[in-house]
Amino acid sequence: MSSSQTASESPRQYQLFIDGKWVDAESGKTFTTPNPSTGETLAEVAEADKADVDKAVAAARRAFEGKWSKMSARDRGRLLYKLSQLIESKSSELAALETADNGKPIKESTYIDLPGVVENFEYFAGWATKIEGETIPVPGQMFNYTLREPLGVCGQIIPWNFPLLMAAWKLAPALAAGNTIVLKPAEQTPVTAMELGKLFQEAGFPDGVVNIVPGYGETAGAALASHPGIDKIAFTGSTEVGKIIARTAADNLTKVSLELGGKAPNIVFADADIEQAVSGAMMGIFFNQGQVCCAGSRLFLDERVKDEFLARFKERAEKVKVGDPMDAATQMGPQVSAEQLARVRGYVDIARGEGATVFTGGGSPELEGNFKNGYFFQPTVFSEVQNSMRVAQEEIFGPVASVITFKDEKDLIKQANDTIYGLSAGIWTKDITRAHRFAKEIKAGTVWINTFNMMNAASPFGGYKQSGYGREMGKHALELYTHVKSVWVDLSGKPIGWYGN
Ligand code: ADP
Repeated sequence: MSSSQTASESPRQYQLFIDGKWVDAESGKTFTTPNPSTGETLAEVAEADKADVDKAVAAARRAFEGKWSKMSARDRGRLLYKLSQLIESKSSELAALETADNGKPIKESTYIDLPGVVENFEYFAGWATKIEGETIPVPGQMFNYTLREPLGVCGQIIPWNFPLLMAAWKLAPALAAGNTIVLKPAEQTPVTAMELGKLFQEAGFPDGVVNIVPGYGETAGAALASHPGIDKIAFTGSTEVGKIIARTAADNLTKVSLELGGKAPNIVFADADIEQAVSGAMMGIFFNQGQVCCAGSRLFLDERVKDEFLARFKERAEKVKVGDPMDAATQMGPQVSAEQLARVRGYVDIARGEGATVFTGGGSPELEGNFKNGYFFQPTVFSEVQNSMRVAQEEIFGPVASVITFKDEKDLIKQANDTIYGLSAGIWTKDITRAHRFAKEIKAGTVWINTFNMMNAASPFGGYKQSGYGREMGKHALELYTHVKSVWVDLSGKPIGWYGN
């Protein structure tokens, strides 16, 4: 499939996936999702609302209390592993759909997103049989142990930047731990989540274990987050919506985990390998059109190497191949939506108004044919930025780097930490003591030293400060989806004696 082919195809159709069945929304409503590289309709999808969310939560509860909780951990793990293999066998088709719905280059969906999805299901398949309690050395004639138990029904709301990968990050640990799920994909990118529903069926998951309810945030998302029948809500998205979710969940004291925005400092010291740092800075801000919560959007440059770095960075940024995301040579596709493009554009005016310079980019590229209507934006660099400016403090979520220069390390750490966010940070230096000192001092959930955007299913990911709470991936993710129960057993066989006999 190519973008031009999808233009001539009739839109794909999807229903809701509830209790193992494909059903229309109770309201009968549907919504459409465009291919962002052309603006043409890719799919028409049933639009879930409160009534559908109610049905999905009830189905997930029945599944939790029924077959799923009686299934052995080994069988749960085997199902997850089977799912990972099914996804792998369909990965080129799923990668093409991800690119058609999100706009990310096919090279990225093929070599980064899909392998990451498979890896996460595979990794957590292995965990299903390794979730254990502990024995605690309490005093006296007592035996105390803990049980790790699933929470129950988990609501999961995911964003549009890595649609299938974010679904995998959430579903895999929750299912490994024995929970059941109601998943709401983002309205901009529901397609691959619906395809995933088909693979859950094919793998043989019992009905109702995974329910998928595409729809809008203010309706389906809000209905899920506020539902008294869920035991946990997990969310990835903007800090603004994360706060709404946390407030909503507070009414029922529903457990919450949040993976929110970022404004990562990516720091280049004078002793860095400049070529390595330039390629890392590009990976940091142009990957996935800059629509990455951990993007290296604040580029801190040591004054002594600023000119050399910027000359090379500009040259490389101007060579980035922007265009048809289905073309294997494309390095940057369109932004996900017209709203997102308008938002990124808006920051060009804000930057100029604040006294920053548009060093390169700053507009949409000239493209041919259908792609004229796509939501494309050039790789962009703002220079002469101060850390206090809006373009250094607000998450732009586009291919836009804000360059700030620094003189000494003390001042640098202060500025790097002077943000409401704390998701990630990068540093480029050959000085190992400085690198590790920085890793310790920066307030962020992930630190990359002489690399950027590295992730693995086994390594935890999450935020400090307003970047959220909880850690996804790795064994820490299991803590988000399990209760710890403490069990006390008397070994003396005697009455407690406190009140006499
Ligand atoms: P962005 O601003 O980048 O589009 P959002 O944080 O708005 O990201 O969206 C992330 C996810 O949160 C999407 O699935 C969206 O539908 C959902 N969402 C948006 N608003 C709400 C809300 N008020 N309640 C629950 N979910 C929401």
